Amino acid sequence: MNTDTLLADISALPQIGDDAVRLLGSQQIDEWPARLQGIAEPSSGTTVVVAPQNVEGVSAILRWAHERGARIQALGMGSNVVGAIDSSVDVLVSTARLDEIHDLDPIDQTVTVGAGIDGRTLDGHLCKEGFVLGHYPQSLHVSTVGGWIATRATGTYSAYYGGIERLLVGAEYVEPAGNIVCVAPRPRSSGGIDLLGLLCGSEGSLGIITQATLAVGRALPERRVCASMPDMRSGLDAQRQMVQSGVPLGLVRLYNPAESLVAAESGVLPESHCLLVATTMGPQAVADAGAAAITATIEAAGGELLAETAADPWFSRRYATPGFMADHNADDRRIFDTIEVALPWVTAAACAEELETALGPLSTPLHQHFSHVYPTGACLYAVLFISGDNQADAHARWATAWSRTLDIVARHRGTLAHHHGIGALRAR
Ligand SMILES: Cc1cc2nc3c(=O)[nH]c(=O)nc-3n(C[C@H](O)[C@H](O)[C@H](O)COP(=O)(O)OP(=O)(O)OC[C@H]3O[C@@H](n4cnc5c(N)ncnc54)[C@H](O)[C@@H]3O)c2cc1C
Repeated sequence: MNTDTLLADISALPQIGDDAVRLLGSQQIDEWPARLQGIAEPSSGTTVVVAPQNVEGVSAILRWAHERGARIQALGMGSNVVGAIDSSVDVLVSTARLDEIHDLDPIDQTVTVGAGIDGRTLDGHLCKEGFVLGHYPQSLHVSTVGGWIATRATGTYSAYYGGIERLLVGAEYVEPAGNIVCVAPRPRSSGGIDLLGLLCGSEGSLGIITQATLAVGRALPERRVCASMPDMRSGLDAQRQMVQSGVPLGLVRLYNPAESLVAAESGVLPESHCLLVATTMGPQAVADAGAAAITATIEAAGGELLAETAADPWFSRRYATPGFMADHNADDRRIFDTIEVALPWVTAAACAEELETALGPLSTPLHQHFSHVYPTGACLYAVLFISGDNQADAHARWATAWSRTLDIVARHRGTLAHHHGIGALRAR
């Protein structure tokens, strides 16, 4: 559709107004996933972005788009790493102005917010009020509540709080024809199909989420245990024993030797060893007992305890800054990408070992870590640093890395997309 017509049409909607409409160059939205999709030069066109102030505004724009056959897409903070924002649509509907904190209920321990609020603001507000968010993705500062729901995101403390699907207890969204749908907050429901569950991971296909009610927690004592593991296999064994024993874990992370070099304090690990860091949470006596229990588990698996500060480098750098992925992909000859998969415990170690062998020659360095654990399996996260002689060479190496990964993960009964979603990159 013609940009001038779009701008005139949308600005004329009574619920929208001029101030909510702006133009954005596509490069500002999604340059690096476009390059990874094989597009040599990203499109230089502009995209119309509308930022409605309330649910009525979202409804008006969706109704208009439905009637006109315009292609629209929701835009949170654009931090997805899978090319989920398509800058060639007619209109991007930004949730930036749906950023209010409507209600914090201290009895039910829930917070109701506009879907466009970012994680840093929400977390800061909750902390001031004596509560915690519990959802701490490494993109906390550059992503929105609506984006978390739409991508079924998860956070670093998933062992304690679960993913966003566990925290979401109510929602309001506007379906594609413009109708407003409310799912009232509830502790649980068996009243038919779970609409909240459907919204999680919907990536905008069911409509635009405008409001969400999330369960929040109380600030709890936490104990941290760090250890040096002789290899990934023994570290995985310790992780599995910890999560299956029922200890109240907060965060659990195991790094391959290459990534341990940046996650751990320098010099604390013997060469080729793996950093394992885990925390326990609960009332102080529970956290203490949990720490004692996981210490015994780690030692039984062959680990050697390190000071609690051993993982400080990771803790101090854990939250990404705006433009992180674009900056890391600014050079045409270099590709920085991540692949996160869910694996059953029985195949997890073998899968990581095969990936190490298959991807090692393509990625320098190759980082791998296991950062989310469940009684039935874990999330393996690979970080690729690929470089080539030129853009085409880098792209070919990246494509080879992906095809090798998919093959190996499938053979080990893994599931692609533990928490980053599908987007355009993975839909192919
Ligand atoms: C450095 C870095 C670290 C990351 N760490 C994590 C992590 O620890 N855990 C994790 O899960 N993810 C992580 N991510 C991925 C990303 O931050 C998440 O996918 C996040 O949930 C996206 O939120 P967003 O607001 O940026 O959404 P966007 O990128 O703007 O949108 C993502 C998708 O959701 C849709 N969408 C957005 N808002 C709405 C809405 N209100 N209604 C309907 N659809 C909507 C969009 O149309 C799009 O399909 C990381 C990303 C980066 C760059």
